[in-house]
Amino acid sequence: MSGTRERIGVLGGTFDPPHIGHLLAAVNVRSALNLDRVLLVVTNEPWQKLGTREISPAEDRLAMVQAAVADLPGIEASDLEIVRGGPSFSVETLEALRSGQPDADLFLIVGADAAGALHTWERWEELADLATLVLVDRPGVQAGDPPERWPLERVEIPRVEVSSTDLRSRVVEGRPLDFLIPPAVATCIAERRLYGLADS
Ligand code: ATP
Ligand code: MG
Repeated sequence: MSGTRERIGVLGGTFDPPHIGHLLAAVNVRSALNLDRVLLVVTNEPWQKLGTREISPAEDRLAMVQAAVADLPGIEASDLEIVRGGPSFSVETLEALRSGQPDADLFLIVGADAAGALHTWERWEELADLATLVLVDRPGVQAGDPPERWPLERVEIPRVEVSSTDLRSRVVEGRPLDFLIPPAVATCIAERRLYGLADS
């Protein structure tokens, strides 16, 4: 650990499924900002996505994230929002982390697409008091402007044009998932018959 205060990164997501874009963000931000650990916080109810498409059960998405990070030191799956239940608001997650560890420094990691939409998040003005914002680029996405006066870091990560949306289509259409998700996540998808995989 560097210094006395623990430095914790938070990467929230639906992770339906998790992919190498998420993992590249987590490991590179951890390294660049010297974080002790990065939590992949699995959304319970992604309230902004509800009604737009079918969301896999939270326990399946958590299992996939656990499989994805099993061999990655310093990267952890978090069930905090699932245990809390209800709609998932990042502000409540950061508050919970802060009250559990008042001495930690928190870093909220978001991709370029999420950055421009931060002002639509619940109580977003309060987020700036809780965490430093960390922006990572995402190909094919115009980087939105984050709210002003928010402590901000930008971290360069390898740009891979991968999304959970594309991966779900790949499963449905039987196209390859190789090199886009860790093999353990592919196994998890097959075992749990996610994304409309028929029994065989
Ligand atoms: P979906 O297509 O279902 O929206 P997604 O691929 O965007 O899925 P999310 O779970 O919505 O994944 O994203 C969680 C976080 O990870 C967001 O902050 C998002 O910007 C970031 N992220 C996702 N994919 C990438 C990527 N390829 N590169 C950088 N950041 C990414
Ligand atoms: Mg997304």
